[in-house]
Amino acid sequence: AKGAAMVTAVAQRLASQRKEIDDTLAAFALNSTQLHEVKKKMHVELERGLKKDSHPTASVKMLPTYVYRTPDGTERGKYLALDLGGTNFRVLVVKIRTGMRNSVRMYNKIYAIPQEIMQGTGEELFDHIVQCISDFLDYMGIKNTRLPLGFTFSFPCSQTGIDKGDLVCWTKGFKATDCEGYDIVDMLREAIKRRKEFDLDIVAIVNDTVGTMMTCAYEDPKCQIGLIAGTGSNVCYMEEMKNIEFVEGDEGQMCINTEWGGFGENDNIEDIRTRYDREVDEGSLNAGKQRFEKMTSGMYLGEIVRQILIDLTKRGLLFRGRITETLKTKGIFETRFLSQIESDRLALLQVRSILQTLGLDSTCDDSIIVKEVCGAVSRRAAQLCGAGMAAIVDKIRENRGLEHLEITVGVDGTLYKLHPHFSTILKDTVRELAPNCKVDFILSEDGSGKGAALITAVARQHHREKQE
Ligand code: BGC
Ligand code: MG
Repeated sequence: AKGAAMVTAVAQRLASQRKEIDDTLAAFALNSTQLHEVKKKMHVELERGLKKDSHPTASVKMLPTYVYRTPDGTERGKYLALDLGGTNFRVLVVKIRTGMRNSVRMYNKIYAIPQEIMQGTGEELFDHIVQCISDFLDYMGIKNTRLPLGFTFSFPCSQTGIDKGDLVCWTKGFKATDCEGYDIVDMLREAIKRRKEFDLDIVAIVNDTVGTMMTCAYEDPKCQIGLIAGTGSNVCYMEEMKNIEFVEGDEGQMCINTEWGGFGENDNIEDIRTRYDREVDEGSLNAGKQRFEKMTSGMYLGEIVRQILIDLTKRGLLFRGRITETLKTKGIFETRFLSQIESDRLALLQVRSILQTLGLDSTCDDSIIVKEVCGAVSRRAAQLCGAGMAAIVDKIRENRGLEHLEITVGVDGTLYKLHPHFSTILKDTVRELAPNCKVDFILSEDGSGKGAALITAVARQHHREKQE
C-alpha cells in the first residue's frame, strides 16, 4: 500500500509538472481570433504609416524607396554591389545581360565585421567597409573602372531619393555611434574620400527586402512583395503613389519598405507579448524597439527559447533545476540549432547530442521539453509573420479593387530557408487569414547582391528617361 501511494505521488507530481509546462507554453499558442486581431492591427499601422500626419510617429515606418517599378528584363550592365546588414559584409560585381533572362553573373567576396566594429564608431565602421571594397577592387583588378554602385543596407533608412537615406535607427546586432540621423550614402562617400585611393559612383541605397523583391520579379512579374525572415524580419511591397501621402505625386506606384519589425512599439500588441518577450527585449541592444521583429526573427527566437528554459529550470522542471553557465550565455541558440532540434527526422537522442554540443546535459525528458519549447516559439513566429503578410496582401487587393488577388512574394532569410516548419506555417496562416488572395512564395537567390544591381540598373534607366 505504501508503494502504491508513492507511485501515485510521483504520478501526481509528474502530472502537475506537465501542467506547469503546458501552461507556460500556452501563452505562445495564438488562436484564430488572436491572429485575426494581429492582422487587423497591422492593417491599421500600415495605414497610419502612409498618412501624412501619422507617418512621422508610426510604429510601422512605411519608408519610401524611390523604386517605381520591378525589372522588365531590359536591364543590363556591369555593377558593383555592397551588402551590409547580417553578420558579414559582402562586395560583389554583378553583370546583367539582356536577350535571355537569367543571365546574371556574380563575383563576390565576404568580409567579417567584428563586433567591435559593429558597435564602435560610425567612422570606424565606414573606414572598415571602404577597406574591404579596396581589397575587392584590387582582387578583381578593377580599381580604375568606376562602376555604378548599389548599396544594400538592411536597416531602416528614411529616403528622399534613390541615393539618399538617413539611418533612422540601428537594428539587430549593430550599434555604431554617430550614424543615426545621418545620410548613409554621405558617410560612405566621406569614408571613400578619406582613403584617397579610388572613387565610386553610388547610384542607389537599397533595403534587402527590396533587393529580394526585385530579384524575384526579374523571374516572375507577379512578384510585388519582398519578405525577409532571417536575422531580422521585414517586408516591402508595391504601393499606389496616391496612397503615399508624404510623397509628391499620385501616378503609378512606388515600393514601400514597411519596416514592420517596429510593429508593437506603440504597445498595441502587449496582450500577446509574454514575460519572456519582455526579458529578451530588455536584454537587447535596442530595448523597446522592434517588438514584432523580436517575436519573429532568427536573432531573437533562440533568445526567447533560452529565457523559457531558464525559467523552467528555476522552477525545477528542467535540467534537474541546475542553471549552467551555458544557459546564461546570450545567443547560444542560433537559427540553425533551432532548425535542427525541430527537424522531424531527428531522434530524441540526436536532440540530446545537439544540446550536448551546446554544453547542456539533458535527460530524455528534458530533450522532449526543449523541443516543445522551440516548437511553440517558432510556430508563433511563423503565425505572426503570416498574420502580417495577410494584412499586406489584403491591402494590395483592396488598393486594386479586386475580389480576388493573385500575387507572388519573393523571400529570403535563414529562418524561412532552413527551418523545417516555419515556411509551411506561414503559408497556412496567410491562406487562413487572407482567403481572397492566392499567394505564391518563391525563394530569392542572393537578392541583396543581384537586387542591388537590378535597382541600380532600373534607377539609371529612369534617370535617362526623365532627361529625354
Ligand atoms: C531591418 C530591416 C531589414 C530586416 C531584414 C531589420 O532589422 O530593420 O531594414 O530589412 O532587418 O534584414
Ligand atoms: Mg502621393
